[in-house]
Amino acid sequence: MESILERVQEIAKDVVAPNASAVDQEGRWPESGVRALLDAGLGGLTVPQELGGLGQGSFGVAQVCEILGQACASTAMCFGMHCVGSAVLSAKATPDQRERYLLPIIEGRHLTTLSLSEAGTGSHFYIPNTKLEAVSPDFYRVTGKKTFVTNAAYADSYVISTVAADPDAPTGQFSCIVIRNHAEGLRWGPPWDGLGMRGNSSRALHLDQVMVPRNDLLGEEGDQIWYVFQVVAPYFLMAMSGTYLGIASAALEIARNHLIKRHYSESGSSLAELPVLQHRLGTLWGMLERTRRLAYHAAASFDAGDPDALPAVFTTKAEVAECAVEMVNEVMTLTGGMAYREGSKLHQLLRDARAAHVMAPTTDLLRVWTGRTLLGRPILGA
Ligand SMILES: Cc1cc2nc3c(=O)[nH]c(=O)nc-3n(C[C@H](O)[C@H](O)[C@H](O)COP(=O)(O)OP(=O)(O)OC[C@H]3O[C@@H](n4cnc5c(N)ncnc54)[C@H](O)[C@@H]3O)c2cc1C
Repeated sequence: MESILERVQEIAKDVVAPNASAVDQEGRWPESGVRALLDAGLGGLTVPQELGGLGQGSFGVAQVCEILGQACASTAMCFGMHCVGSAVLSAKATPDQRERYLLPIIEGRHLTTLSLSEAGTGSHFYIPNTKLEAVSPDFYRVTGKKTFVTNAAYADSYVISTVAADPDAPTGQFSCIVIRNHAEGLRWGPPWDGLGMRGNSSRALHLDQVMVPRNDLLGEEGDQIWYVFQVVAPYFLMAMSGTYLGIASAALEIARNHLIKRHYSESGSSLAELPVLQHRLGTLWGMLERTRRLAYHAAASFDAGDPDALPAVFTTKAEVAECAVEMVNEVMTLTGGMAYREGSKLHQLLRDARAAHVMAPTTDLLRVWTGRTLLGRPILGA
């Protein structure tokens, strides 16, 4: 893992950081950073070693996204969504899917991404309305509309959640299927021009009777709930947790530097000499470090197969979201008027951090899921 993190650190410094401000200001998809990561052999980060990948679990994803998130949260999220999509593809890949998807992913020739959210069901992302119909022995027909598809139009494939169209199918029979970017019937909504995470290219995707080969179904029909809790949730939550920990670390570093460098002309003393600011910086460090430790513990427990890992995984992303938003907010105060100046990195961090609470599973839902798990109630029940 050390050598992987060193490679990511180099790319973050040499490619991602220099482009971060343009990605934010122009709402530009972070092509150079994502391509550099794929070219450096990191495309198969979450593909198991026995299938030829780097075999990293959710902990590896969290660490990689944290390094990238310190430089540019959009790049972290775009690459993170590729890693989550790859993990979902790998979980039950057939030999044919290994050949057509995982091999090019490992070789850095294929970018994938996850598309679950829909306008109708919003943050209840585990309830798709997009229909999957078996129309012939070789094809399914997929019809529906997805929203907020990160890496939209830039990915080579989209891992999509669907519900059975057949009226005789068991209620709530969900499935996951891969759709190629050149499939006929894909139509993209307007370009992404969000408040934050402006490089994500998170656009709506219309699926107008898209014919998809049956061998692009992942697992069995109706497997999706298995995917949601065994693969999507842990990998996705750790990709996001890493990204937003990165934002919090970047903000803390800005505060530390400001306190050291800011000197007053009348006394020559620096802000670093003021006990009240030393106290505030120390408190922020404590908040970040305990949140990071929770994330590392949760991811490592999940990867080790601990059956009790889920509440920690759920809580991690909620805690990280709170930590990132509070951290940037506090650093805005600690760094005084400079934070409001044109070109301040804190503008971007503030806007990017705010998305942490609403990217599903949202903070409120995660708190509810944790409570339900502790009470022995079904996670998606009442
Ligand atoms: C920058 C960005 C990138 C994204 N990228 C992707 C992506 O790549 N793939 C993807 O699939 N989706 C993506 N999304 C979508 C995201 O994951 C959420 O689905 C979406 O932001 C939330 O949906 P909504 O706006 O309909 O919220 P709503 O469902 O309207 O929720 C509004 C609020 O109500 C709360 N709420 C709703 N139900 C409950 C409940 N039962 N209990 C407690 N509180 C509840 C929510 O927590 C939330 O705070 C992205 C979103 C953003 C902002």
